[in-house]
Amino acid sequence: MARDPDCLFCRIEAGEIPSTQVHSDDLVIAFRDISPRAPTHILLIPREHIRSAAELTDSHAPMVGHLFAVAAQVARDQGIEDAGYRIVTNIGRGAGQTVDHLHLHLMGGRPMTWPPG
Ligand code: 5GP
Ligand code: ZN
Repeated sequence: MARDPDCLFCRIEAGEIPSTQVHSDDLVIAFRDISPRAPTHILLIPREHIRSAAELTDSHAPMVGHLFAVAAQVARDQGIEDAGYRIVTNIGRGAGQTVDHLHLHLMGGRPMTWPPG
């Protein structure tokens, strides 16, 4: 599986940097954001190093489907499903991407405004 030794999330995936995990399986892991922007703020990443959603191809379809299914399950587990929650992925610096390893932000536990800034 593709890996970048200089990538922060590859290092979290490998356990070299500690994280508070809420889900782990063969394809994806989920852990709490170190700087939460909502009462519940969880990051979901593929174990494979993919720079962003812009790099996805049809070959990634099983992983992407699973990533969203896990996000929905984590939202249920965290008790934020009924009130509603947001799933976001930033692509590129102008959109706020700071870590170049595909991740979904799962955010909930407070009212969300639209559009995001
Ligand atoms: P981005 O800005 O790329 O969309 O999201 C990156 C996220 O990673 C940010 O919300 C940031 O708070 C989070 N983050 C950065 N460094 C770490 C870390 O070392 N551990 C964890 N758990 N989250 C991190
Ligand atoms: Zn990576």
